Amino acid sequence: MILQTIHATQPTLTLAMQKADWLGLTYLLAAVLFYLGLKMLSKVSTARRGNMVSALGMLVAIAATFFQISGGQWVSLVWIGIAMLIGTGAGAVLALRVPMTGMPEMVALLNGCGGIASLLVACGDYLNKFNAESQINGVVASVDILQYAGWDVLLATGLATLIGGLTFTGSLVAYAKLAGSKFIPDAPVQFAGQKVLIAVLLIGSLALAGVLIAQPHAWYVLVIVSLLALILGILLVIGIGGADMPVVIALLNSYSGIAASMAGFVLNNSALIITGALVGASGLILTNIMCKAMNRSLMNVLFGGVGGAVAGGGKGPEGEARAFSIEDASIILDAARSVIIVPGYGMAVAQAQHAVKEFAQQLESRSIEVKYAIHPVAGRMPGHMNVLLAEADVPYEQLLDLEQVNPQFEQADVALVIGANDVTNPAARHDTASPIYGMPILDVDKARTVFVIKRSMNPGFAGIQNELYFKENTGMIFGDAKKVVSDLSTELAAN
Ligand code: NDP
Repeated sequence: MILQTIHATQPTLTLAMQKADWLGLTYLLAAVLFYLGLKMLSKVSTARRGNMVSALGMLVAIAATFFQISGGQWVSLVWIGIAMLIGTGAGAVLALRVPMTGMPEMVALLNGCGGIASLLVACGDYLNKFNAESQINGVVASVDILQYAGWDVLLATGLATLIGGLTFTGSLVAYAKLAGSKFIPDAPVQFAGQKVLIAVLLIGSLALAGVLIAQPHAWYVLVIVSLLALILGILLVIGIGGADMPVVIALLNSYSGIAASMAGFVLNNSALIITGALVGASGLILTNIMCKAMNRSLMNVLFGGVGGAVAGGGKGPEGEARAFSIEDASIILDAARSVIIVPGYGMAVAQAQHAVKEFAQQLESRSIEVKYAIHPVAGRMPGHMNVLLAEADVPYEQLLDLEQVNPQFEQADVALVIGANDVTNPAARHDTASPIYGMPILDVDKARTVFVIKRSMNPGFAGIQNELYFKENTGMIFGDAKKVVSDLSTELAAN
């Protein structure tokens, strides 16, 4: 009987295997495109192309998945088409409307969507397996696939639910904090026993995933794991705040990748496994880079409750800041031989990048050497300044990172700080009471003259006053970054 069945299904099996080979190859092609895209994204000069290559990889993967499920199942295809239209429409509108400064919030939302999608896929697939229908030789029979589900698939189901769930709520909390919601404070919310509670919930959820392997039919276990994961996400992120949020976003990005990879194991979809693993690994690498840029350990970021510290904890810098007029500043700039421009969040808010490029050209036309100092966490997302300056066609070779540029400040005639604050605060080097103590900063104070363009004496993201503003070689040029830079260009041109 078994042999008869095997013979009867032989042509279908061969066809299915050929289809699987093609599918595997296409997914491999998609994975190679993702890998190449990621590699290109790591260099400013190739980043745009990298984005396109990765998008092409996604198109190949989606097309392959469509071919896999086409075979008369038009109903599913219609539903998938509708879901894709809604998703693509919402994504396009969001991407077109979001300002560059709102990118971290948008990434937080996208991570959350990835997390909840993995949870739903894992739970949906589990429910499907409960009462799957099998059709052999035209006879339809109800089959309990769960009886035969391997421990690995059940483990992946539990983990996709756990990681996906905590990524979802964690990302929503991160979004609310970054967007300045009145319901969730930006400062870390910590309470006694929080770490113990997190540990208990985490160990409990992992143990429950183990129970699911031993008792594949215990569906309620998956419901409990989902609930615990959602609570865990809130608890993990609520205790973090302020300047640490970008690190959390990168970490949640990594979690969403790991959850997707687990969902890939559940669905036996190699493209999803590979893509998820790439996102998981790159998110972890980025988290590590950002921790280093702030001179913090990941444990300290996650559980230190440091990010929300504001001015007042230690003694603030004292003295008087000197205001400079456009005319006076341009006389000094005109006499300089080398100028290092230090862009920050304020340049992004003012959308001053094109004005900055024109100003730099004005300086270069007077044989003044111009370079840009790029701090890894300047602005509100990694690479924020690179993206803006690339948009204004600033030559890549003029962009120097922290290690390259710091030794050069001593030889610079002018360091022109445009809307940057925390990343230039010398307190990070010596003031152990400062919340940003230990964060590597741009040593702008070592330049002969420092000009700072900002609108007021208000603090930056970390909420602390900058002692740079009270140094003897520093002059403040108050005003909106775009206006001040344009006025400086006009003044220089008139000289
Ligand atoms: P900061 O946030 O420290 O300071 C920005 C300064 O820009 C403010 O002091 C503000 O002063 C000024 N500013 C705002 N608008 C304007 C404007 N229109 N024209 C001129 N100036 C303006 O920025 P930095 O780039 O120095 O530092 C980034 C901070 O953000 C760090 O603390 C970092 O940890 C954190 N962070 C970084 C992320 C990343 O991945 N890059 C993500 C999230 C946070 P005023 O109001 O007086 O004008």
